[in-house]
Amino acid sequence: MIDLLSLNLNELKELFPEPKYLGGQLFTFLHNGCSFDEMTSLKKDLREQLKAEYITNPVTILKKFVGKSGTIKYLFALTDGNLIEGVYMPHDYGNTLCLSTQIGCRMGCSFCASGLDGLLRNLTPGEMLGQVVAVNRDNGGTTKDRAVTNLVLMGSGEPFDNYQNVLKFLDLVSHEKGIGISERNISLSTSGLADKVREFADSGHKVTLSISLHAPFDELRSSIMPVNKKYNIQNIVSASKYYFEKTGRRVIFEYTLIKGTNDSPECAKELASLTRGFPTHVNLIRLNEVKERNHKAPTEDATKEFLKRLEALGVSATIRRSLGNDIEGACGQLRRRYLEEQSK
Ligand code: SAH
Ligand code: SF4
Repeated sequence: MIDLLSLNLNELKELFPEPKYLGGQLFTFLHNGCSFDEMTSLKKDLREQLKAEYITNPVTILKKFVGKSGTIKYLFALTDGNLIEGVYMPHDYGNTLCLSTQIGCRMGCSFCASGLDGLLRNLTPGEMLGQVVAVNRDNGGTTKDRAVTNLVLMGSGEPFDNYQNVLKFLDLVSHEKGIGISERNISLSTSGLADKVREFADSGHKVTLSISLHAPFDELRSSIMPVNKKYNIQNIVSASKYYFEKTGRRVIFEYTLIKGTNDSPECAKELASLTRGFPTHVNLIRLNEVKERNHKAPTEDATKEFLKRLEALGVSATIRRSLGNDIEGACGQLRRRYLEEQSK
């Protein structure tokens, strides 16, 4: 079945050349989360015909869990029965959706639940957009007053391992005839595929780029992030500088603190020297412990201590609130738990 949400405006117009307005109207209706029945400006027989051949959104909400702070964790089902997850975080300044770009991940980071079973498959642009559409509809309806104002591509998957689809998704979700989220309000997190970071810098897209650094020494980084054997720290830092030069956007370095692994004063010192010389910010994250992995989180005090060291070295840094901890917030954990329960 054709995934209509994966098609851009021109492709929709080509697929539905008559009547002339149809492609454009469908684009807006689909991005607003309307069912075919709700597309009342289309003739009834046309709606029936569309219903017989197409689906409006390849993503449906299977389960949702509401956390203490209003955070909602979604478990989504795809048309082939696969499951993915997303987290919706309402704030005063706007509402952020954290979404997935792949089912699983093949990067194999030693602290992460998403990569435990490797990569199942890439998500289509429509399956990424469908997560935004489903959450907008669930939190507001089908009007233009959309719930989701900010996006972070930090759910399961490595966005740059699904490069073309992610780029098409960015074009779709920022389109003015659709959801129209400005790229200023979109963050993309990558484990550091340096070639793709450079290609992305040249692509004209201007999202906030987050680099998952997590260790300032190559040997240590390779031991927790195997991708470092291919793209080492120096390569990633120079690609990040290139991204800043091309886009003017400050690069964020993510640093998940793992007790006894990357939380030493030497690590703070080296991290400070790596991020010096161009506009950056360090986001410290306390490890969200994954039961299948044996890494431990440092205490809150040790986390604050690491932050203080960085600040004393002149680094702009903050501790990121661990989001949705009470509802299996760490990427990949909810889906695993659900699959485990189903197989019992
Ligand atoms: N694959 C991309 C984006 C998804 S992961 C990437 O790695 O950047 C989003 C962020 O969550 C990354 O910085 C990742 O390293 C971090 N992360 C993964 N598992 C985690 C865990 N158990 N605790 C804390 N952060 C984690
Ligand atoms: Fe993949 Fe990111 Fe998890 Fe690493 S941290 S396994 S790159 S999703």
